Amino acid sequence: MPMKSITCAFALSALVAFGGEQLMNLPAAPKGGRFQTPPDLIWPAKPGEADVCLWYADRFAACSITIDDNSKPDHDWWLKLSEELGIKLTWFVITDHCVYNRNTGFNGTWADWQKLANAGHSIQSHTTNHKAKHGDVPMPSDEEVEAMYRDSLKAINDNVTNNIACCIAYPRGEPHEAIAAKYAIACRGVYGVPNSANTINYLCTNKGAAGKGHVQMVAFGETQEGPKWLHGKKDLKRGWNIVLYHLVHAGKDDATREKNAASTEREVRYIASLKDDRLWVCRFDDAAKYGQERDSATLNVVENTQQKIAFDLTDRMKDDVFDFPLTVKVRLPDGWKTVKASQGEKPVKADFLLHEGAPYALVYAVPDRGKVVVSQ
Ligand SMILES: [Zn+2]
Repeated sequence: MPMKSITCAFALSALVAFGGEQLMNLPAAPKGGRFQTPPDLIWPAKPGEADVCLWYADRFAACSITIDDNSKPDHDWWLKLSEELGIKLTWFVITDHCVYNRNTGFNGTWADWQKLANAGHSIQSHTTNHKAKHGDVPMPSDEEVEAMYRDSLKAINDNVTNNIACCIAYPRGEPHEAIAAKYAIACRGVYGVPNSANTINYLCTNKGAAGKGHVQMVAFGETQEGPKWLHGKKDLKRGWNIVLYHLVHAGKDDATREKNAASTEREVRYIASLKDDRLWVCRFDDAAKYGQERDSATLNVVENTQQKIAFDLTDRMKDDVFDFPLTVKVRLPDGWKTVKASQGEKPVKADFLLHEGAPYALVYAVPDRGKVVVSQ
């Protein structure tokens, strides 16, 4: 992001690196956004200039596929499709249903969630019991809500390994942001529009839709179909589209269930077809980490010579949870043909690329883990 990039000769960030703020989540964005969303990819012009990419691997926009309400009858179908397409999903699980097994055929067991986590999918909370105000059911008390959020995250973390539960999807989209802020880094609501990159409300994100209109809005800034009112929303371009599914094989008979599954499969295949070029198709928690690290990041280039470029990268987020690498694009000195990078003495991933004949690196570094050194 251009406004966050400061090239300076002094290492001012030492104090920040030794602690600094440790935020669990960011407050709501100011009116007008946290920054100006760049309309296209950014290519810093001068050797030694660096920029935190809007999304991982310098993708144009982001998309997360989330699945609610346990939906066990679909697990094998999702596992097969996601493996074929090379995408990871996020499951929002009602955790009491895994324990009481009122209907194991629908709700799944801890072993089922472990299987999904082992395949790289993210297991997050849809609370303990899905209680929310609707019909004659009253709004749960604050104490109840707090237990629903806290205990569900703990249950997942106690029962599923290879996974950190730190996100919540609000039952029926009914948010209790102040309570969730104590336990979660991000929460998903159900307001149906993609998230603009510069105004994401991490404690109650919107959801978009899997239809081409929403996907093309973020990935290209245009809609080929879908709600007419989306056409005027150009600020959704480069945003984060969060798709929400429930039971995919739904319907009264086999033919209806197959038809519904086929329609979902078409949508998911379309999203995946954009993943290597336009879209970062990612887990909900990974995008929530990347976004908040990016939104609070400070990047200082502290050394810039023909042989070596070094920068400090810090953020305001809690270091033991916010461990996802940011992608930093660095304009390399003319003539470089390869690149390698290290952070705090350890090697980190760095990709070399040419753009209009000029050399660049994409460097992957976690904020607050020490100085990053880029060399040939
Ligand atoms: Zn639900």
